[in-house]
Amino acid sequence: MAESCIFCKIGNGDLPSDKVFDDGEAFAIRDIHPKAPTHVLVVPHTHIEALAEGSAAQRDAAAHCLAVAPRIAKDLGVTSYRLVVNQGPDSGQEVPHFHLHILGGRRLGAMG
Ligand code: 5GP
Ligand code: ZN
Repeated sequence: MAESCIFCKIGNGDLPSDKVFDDGEAFAIRDIHPKAPTHVLVVPHTHIEALAEGSAAQRDAAAHCLAVAPRIAKDLGVTSYRLVVNQGPDSGQEVPHFHLHILGGRRLGAMG
């Protein structure tokens, strides 16, 4: 765990969240500033700052988040959605702990 990381603290239960899923490897929380009616973040419990080529830990964590995303979306009643990963400052990444956004519940505009 990274001492100052808000997602590590949420994962540990040190900070509150609206958690909708946790299987021990990853958890999902409702985004505090939702951009869609359903906006959930899928976050590995392991602290991984971002995607990095060649790291088995990041590959497994990212793959797990992708693997559980459809089930989380389905449980939330969303059948059509967008998955987003922000990577680095140009993408607007705010939290330096890898996470997958699930956005759904409305028609989403073009990406850009
Ligand atoms: P990023 O831009 O890093 O891909 O996304 C970070 C997301 O985390 C943002 O959409 C932001 O609204 C959300 N966020 C930031 N702090 C918190 C928090 O304390 N709790 C929750 N649930 N979401 C947060
Ligand atoms: Zn972290």
